[in-house]
Amino acid sequence: MNQKLNEIAKILPTIGLGTRHIFDITSVYKNIRPYGILHFEKKYLSIVEKSMDELSLSIFSKKYLYKEADPNSREGILSLAKNSEEENFCELWFLNKNNIDLNRSLSWDELHSRTGYYLSYPDCCVGAWEKYQAQNIFYEKYIYETKRGFWQNNRLASIFYPDILMLDYFPCSLDCPHASQLADKIFSVINTELDADLLNNSFKWMKAVYFVNQEYLFASPEWIKKDDRISINQDKIQKVKLQEVAKMIKRSIDKIHLIPFEHYSGVAFLDIMREDEILATFKV
Ligand SMILES: [Zn+2]
Repeated sequence: MNQKLNEIAKILPTIGLGTRHIFDITSVYKNIRPYGILHFEKKYLSIVEKSMDELSLSIFSKKYLYKEADPNSREGILSLAKNSEEENFCELWFLNKNNIDLNRSLSWDELHSRTGYYLSYPDCCVGAWEKYQAQNIFYEKYIYETKRGFWQNNRLASIFYPDILMLDYFPCSLDCPHASQLADKIFSVINTELDADLLNNSFKWMKAVYFVNQEYLFASPEWIKKDDRISINQDKIQKVKLQEVAKMIKRSIDKIHLIPFEHYSGVAFLDIMREDEILATFKV
């Protein structure tokens, strides 16, 4: 267990950041990837700088940006401030001071033209982002996925629980092996460095059961798999309208579509329960 990292993990929620950011920071601190990035409200800069210093992480690029809501998805968009817009966010790039081979003089333009490369995101995922350039296309792709995905790539979880343990990019698909391998490398250190209580909620949502019916996406963080059935408690199910996830989603499905994941492979039936009573069973 790493005391410094755990202390900083406790500070992050007070400045609008969370466990997903300690995931990011730890990956650089433990040299799994060379460079990291953080976005936060400009007013918290001195707190972030102090935390970086305590971890011997060096800030090598700092840029003030403007954050606004994305009209097409649930997430925000950061851009350079225009005319009357006031810079309200800070983008900060950092690296491990002990890594002497790193280039510390990269310009912001260079970092921005190859962000995915410098942040070690898999080439396939960077290519997919360059092709689609829109968050809502990824959400639609994930929701209607028919191949078995990896929970490590489950960005859908962020719809219900924003503080999931993922680097801030969109895997090209839920079953991208490169994205899940990168995540596993980080998990292998996160699990030994950070307090489990900090991580458990994120894991629960990343491994939750997700399904679509008509115009809703449903999620249940608690579920039991037995043989070829998954049972979930009616009271634990949460839902969100598909159109709120990504405005362009027009499709609705009359039968239940279980979003398939490796960790519950082989499932053929979904039971909706109230205590011990089966209220409904769906073939999935
Ligand atoms: Zn990929």
